[in-house]
Amino acid sequence: MTASAALVVTTTRSPADAAARLATAALRLVPRVDALIVGDGADIPEIAAPELVRHARGYTVVLCPIDEFGRDVLSRAAAMLDAAFLRGVIAIPTPTTVVRPLHFGSINATFELPANVPLLMTVQTRAFAAADPAVIGRTTRIDVPLAGARSRRLRPGQPQSADIGAARIVIGAGRGAATPRRMEAVHRIAERLGAAVGATRPTIDEGFASPDQLVGQSGKAVAPALYLALGVSGALHHLTGIRDAAVIAAINTDASAPIFDVADYVLVADLDVALPELEAALAEAPR
Ligand SMILES: Cc1cc2nc3c(=O)[nH]c(=O)nc-3n(C[C@H](O)[C@H](O)[C@H](O)COP(=O)(O)OP(=O)(O)OC[C@H]3O[C@@H](n4cnc5c(N)ncnc54)[C@H](O)[C@@H]3O)c2cc1C
Repeated sequence: MTASAALVVTTTRSPADAAARLATAALRLVPRVDALIVGDGADIPEIAAPELVRHARGYTVVLCPIDEFGRDVLSRAAAMLDAAFLRGVIAIPTPTTVVRPLHFGSINATFELPANVPLLMTVQTRAFAAADPAVIGRTTRIDVPLAGARSRRLRPGQPQSADIGAARIVIGAGRGAATPRRMEAVHRIAERLGAAVGATRPTIDEGFASPDQLVGQSGKAVAPALYLALGVSGALHHLTGIRDAAVIAAINTDASAPIFDVADYVLVADLDVALPELEAALAEAPR
C-alpha cells in the first residue's frame, strides 16, 4: 500500500456533486485524491467488486456514497482486499478518527482508524461540503462488461418468459419469491394468466430469471394493465420501472414494505400460503 492517497468511487447514477463531497471527506484523511466512476455493471456486485478491487489497490482509503452500490459492492471489495470497512461516516474530526451513527442514529460513535490497514468506507455525502473538483487528481471511468455475466448463472430449468415490455399482465418476482418452489408456482400462475414474469435484481442474481426480465432503472420500464409484485420490497430502482402500470397489486410479509405505498391492492401474507391459494382460486375461475 503506497501511503496517503484516497480513491473516491461513484456510479453514473450518483448525484453530480457526490465525488466532490467525498473528496472533502477524503482530504481530511490523506493529502491526495483520485476518482473512479463506475458505469455499466455498477448494479451487479459480483462483477463490479473485483473490478473495483483492481482499481483500488494501492490506495490507503476508498470512499463511496452510502447507497446500494456502497452497501453491496464496497463491502464485497473490502472482504476481497482484506481491508477494514466502515459504514455511513458522517464526520472526520482528525486524520485518524471518523464518526458514524450507531443504533439507528440514536448515538454517534467515534472510531479510531486502524494503522497500516487499507480502509473502505461509505460516507453520508450530505454531511460534507463539495470540494472544488480541481482537487481531484485523476478521474477514471470504468464500464464492467455485462455480457453473459448473469445469464451464465441462470439456474437450469428456469422457463422462458414472454416479453415483459409487451405483456398485459406482468408478475414481478422479488427476492421473497426467489426459491425453487415459489418460482415454479409463479410460472404456473403466469401461464394461467397469460402473464410475463419480470424480476428484481436479487431474483436475477439468484439465477431465477435472466437479465432481460429485470424491471426497473437498470432494466425495462413496463406498462401492463396489471403488475403483480410478489415478494418485492419496492426499492426506488425497481419502482422506476413500474410507474406506468395501470394497476399494481402486491403480496409481501412485511406490512411496511414500500411497495405497499404505491400498490392499489395489497396482501400481507407469506407467499408459501398466498401462492397456493391464488393457484386454487385461479383453477376455479372461468377461463
Ligand atoms: C445502480 C443500481 C441500479 C439498480 N437497478 C435495479 C433495477 O433496475 N431493478 C431492480 O429491481 N433493482 C435494481 N437495483 C437493486 C434495488 O436497489 C433493490 O436492491 C432491489 O430492487 C430489491 O429487490 P427485492 O425487492 O426483490 O429484494 P428485497 O429488497 O430484499 O425485498 C424482498 C421482499 O420480499 C419480502 N419477502 C420475503 N420473504 C417473503 C415471503 N415468504 N412471502 C412474501 N414476501 C416475502 C420481504 O418482506 C421484502 O420486502 C439497483 C441497484 C443499484 C445500486
